[in-house]
Amino acid sequence: MKFYLLVVLILLGFVSTHRISYDGYKAFRIRPTTISQLKTLSSLSKKPGFDFWNIPRVINKSIDVLVAPDLLESFQTYLKTNHIIYHVLIENYQEVIQIENVALKSKRLREDVSFKKYMTYEQIVNYLKTLAKKYPDIVTVQSIGNTENNRSIPLIKISTGGSNKPAILIDAGIHAREWIAPPVALYTIQQLVENATNIRLIQNVDWLIVPVLNPDGYTYTFNNDRLWRKNRSPGRRCYGADINRNFDFHWMEGGASAYECEETYAGSKGFSELEAQALRDFILANSENIKLYLTFHSYGEYMLYPWGYTSDLPDDEPELRTLGTAVADAIEKASTIGTSYTIGTSTNVLYEAAGGSDDWTKGVGGVQLSYTIELPGGGSEGFNPPTRKILPVVRETWEGIKLYQAYIEKKFAN
Ligand SMILES: [Zn+2]
Repeated sequence: MKFYLLVVLILLGFVSTHRISYDGYKAFRIRPTTISQLKTLSSLSKKPGFDFWNIPRVINKSIDVLVAPDLLESFQTYLKTNHIIYHVLIENYQEVIQIENVALKSKRLREDVSFKKYMTYEQIVNYLKTLAKKYPDIVTVQSIGNTENNRSIPLIKISTGGSNKPAILIDAGIHAREWIAPPVALYTIQQLVENATNIRLIQNVDWLIVPVLNPDGYTYTFNNDRLWRKNRSPGRRCYGADINRNFDFHWMEGGASAYECEETYAGSKGFSELEAQALRDFILANSENIKLYLTFHSYGEYMLYPWGYTSDLPDDEPELRTLGTAVADAIEKASTIGTSYTIGTSTNVLYEAAGGSDDWTKGVGGVQLSYTIELPGGGSEGFNPPTRKILPVVRETWEGIKLYQAYIEKKFAN
């Protein structure tokens, strides 16, 4: 009898993977109005049971935090006694996950791309392979490295051939749970390869795109823990390092953790992580050509450029700011969902975060123009936008990416 029950459970998928439940977890939106409120809140960010989804350093900007059920009462008392403005953003996070699960139902491999759902790692890889087969004249797909769990990190090159063309490097999904980022990379790929009217965008500029830089972490968010951020490298006490704190340029100088159980754990040393190594090696091998680096994250609607390790500005800050502002304006103009970007250096508008890929790419990798784009989040509907908002986000962001292309073509192509 027990055996039959087990078979039934396996068939239903109940025991195939262990899934973390967020039943009873509440998300709060908080707006600190004084420096002391901000300081006490950021001290909470290191405590277990609090998951800060964004931690702006400036006052009067909202912060979203997910709180475990056993801490809810004391947290709300704390907010009230400190007169901190807040409201409950999401009553029960598990309900958001259940809605997402319905939308994810099909993990079946298809040859095309979808912007009506979030695609799995396997579906994304399959789409890239299909493009390589269908468009061999302009598409090549390669692996830039393997992960701890032996998944390849795919890169698609879109090029009409010839050498010494300026190239744009794009990556997405360094942070596993930031699901809206890979669709932005995929939409860029689809528009460049499958939409013939965009042919001029690939004539003088090459495109190098990594839609999922953290395949292990990304897969883990589908099967085990929807809010996983890091990769899946094993540690002594906890799994995973924050790949975006692991780049060896002013490594661990600020905004990163030496404790392996924390979300911003920087790894045991600079470039200890396979994913960071893979991107580093690819950039160094192609640094002559790469003229622009865009790395997509979520969320917060920030257009960020170096430095992240210091509040000092790079010498070419005016150029970075002018270009970033023009792109942000184009996105805002195209937006149907009210997107509005804040522009500036990582440290000054968001928070100090040393070891980021954007800093290393500019500081060591030799790519002058380097941006981190924090896409829109889901607001009261969760960390990620609900599936019906994928298309509006990728479409508006594409308007900005086209502007970046025009700038690179004008400045570097002859
Ligand atoms: Zn991120």
